[in-house]
Amino acid sequence: TEIRDLLLSRIRDVADYPQPGVMFKDITPLLADPAAFTALTDELAGIAGQTGATKVIGLEARGFILGAPVAVRAGLGFVPVRKAGKLPGATLSQAYELEYGSAEIEVHAEDLGGDDRVLIVDDVLATGGTAEASVQLVRRAGAEVAGLAVLMELGFLGGRERLEPALAGAPLEAL
Ligand code: 5GP
Repeated sequence: TEIRDLLLSRIRDVADYPQPGVMFKDITPLLADPAAFTALTDELAGIAGQTGATKVIGLEARGFILGAPVAVRAGLGFVPVRKAGKLPGATLSQAYELEYGSAEIEVHAEDLGGDDRVLIVDDVLATGGTAEASVQLVRRAGAEVAGLAVLMELGFLGGRERLEPALAGAPLEAL
């Protein structure tokens, strides 16, 4: 589609970043282009509406840049999921495995409630580890997962397959 082509044209491939052998998808050209950034925000806000979301979660750090305008556009609240140690209040935290080592993400427990349906937003779905941990955080907070929406899915890394059990039927939308 036209929007897909516009978005794709504004994503820059950076070879050997952050390490040799990795082709990094850089979204900063898209953010700098008002037509592309607006189109992306509108698309994601549409998904928020379709899924009946009541809150948008953004995953640090690029998920903040995308998720916050989506929440405003959709008329919903925004909840940041942060790397461990950054949130001042009472948190739920979830550890997950990386290729080398592990990582931990956190959310303020009081920002999500039993009535919430949460759309999780991030820029890139790679192995799915970050998204899977965020789904677990939402559930542990007592809220429901309305869906996961990303700009881009790196299909060859198998994130979608990995996430299927965790999502339990909630949609995974990749633009
Ligand atoms: P995963 O946990 O799915 O392996 O990795 C996803 C996380 O890493 C996302 O938060 C995403 O922002 C980041 N990430 C992984 N690869 C890329 C990439 O090529 N480009 C961008 N922009 N982010 C990436």
